[in-house]
Amino acid sequence: MRGETHAGDGLWQQKARAQFPIITAHPELAYLDSAATSQKPRAVLDAVQAYLTTSNANAGRGTYPWANRTTGVIERARERVKEFLGDREPDRSTVHFTSGTTEGLRTVARDWLVEHLTDGDEILVPFSDHRANLDPWLEARRLLAERGTEVRVRALPCQETSGDYDHRALADVVGPRTRFVAATHVHHVYGGDMNVHRLRAAVGPDVPICLDAAQSVGHLPLRVGDPVLDVDFVVFSGHKALALPGTGAVWARNTRGPVLAPSGWQGTPNTVGIVSLLAALDWLDAVGVDRIAAHVTRLATRLTDRLRRLDAYEVLGCPASLAADSTLPAAQRRHGIVTLRHRDIPSDDLGFILFSHGFMVRADSLCQAGADDGTGSVRVSLHVYNTDEEIDRLLTVLDSMA
Ligand code: PLP
Repeated sequence: MRGETHAGDGLWQQKARAQFPIITAHPELAYLDSAATSQKPRAVLDAVQAYLTTSNANAGRGTYPWANRTTGVIERARERVKEFLGDREPDRSTVHFTSGTTEGLRTVARDWLVEHLTDGDEILVPFSDHRANLDPWLEARRLLAERGTEVRVRALPCQETSGDYDHRALADVVGPRTRFVAATHVHHVYGGDMNVHRLRAAVGPDVPICLDAAQSVGHLPLRVGDPVLDVDFVVFSGHKALALPGTGAVWARNTRGPVLAPSGWQGTPNTVGIVSLLAALDWLDAVGVDRIAAHVTRLATRLTDRLRRLDAYEVLGCPASLAADSTLPAAQRRHGIVTLRHRDIPSDDLGFILFSHGFMVRADSLCQAGADDGTGSVRVSLHVYNTDEEIDRLLTVLDSMA
């Protein structure tokens, strides 16, 4: 699909969409919940079937061909994750497979962070991102307190209206005892790039930074080899990046102090899931994550621009100036996530109404830390298989309730 010449992004996108059997089987429905989990292309389904019908065995044990093949696939997937993330020093990093971002962040907290903090240390974490990127750090503080080590958890400052980090206010919370920062790459409610590249300058060269990349890996280019993205952990969910449910990984740089111990072959890994992740990353690279990012950003901008003209709707976390200005650098635009509220219709009702018209969206508090006030919102989240036609159909329905 790469390298084809055609006007706009129509043909490559149609070809990509055609590779998702669940999508093509239901043309009357529109799957708009990819921030929760993505659909899977044929290549991923085929890789899983091929593995299960030719090589299924346990990994890291056994000396017969199927077992060796399984071990080889898992090692290859580890290297593939590094390559996909643009790791230029693969000998100086580790990849741990997990069931998703939640388990990945917990792994960093329990297996690494608690071993690296001492009395009086401070950590900086997001208080209004996904709960999965807050609870593990609070749990780490609790575990340390049980051992008699008191650490301070401080909130990464953010701007109330947009949800973006307030990089100017960072200087007020970073101090000589700051030992760790957890941040989110793309916000799961607001869809904004959180400009995490600006964190390094604020915290200095020695503080490890852990990136929740659940909404960015597989959605937009993320390159750890890029000096501006100088982070130590990248945690993501494979299932949001076209692989099977129950997949994810932690990439850890081994250069800023000791990192997570290599996972080795303890216990049986999710071999089928890892096979699917390998296939998903290959598929994403073949299609081009940059093209996917441009496609979903364009659709999100189209939806946001039109919603903004309807008084009945509020678009969360997206200042008018950002939505309107398509000349802004990608880092300041919305990445395939548009979250809205109707001024009169409760969000769960709106979710049901939309489903009655064939739109599958998320409608609740979206697992946002501190957002359990019952207000809720409706999130439209996009991937490569979504189309202009779906957005227009959605707008027609939303318009009819304005
Ligand atoms: N972090 C963010 C930003 C997310 O959007 C999500 C899921 O929606 C998670 C963490 C949790 O991911 P998982 O359910 O794969 O563990």
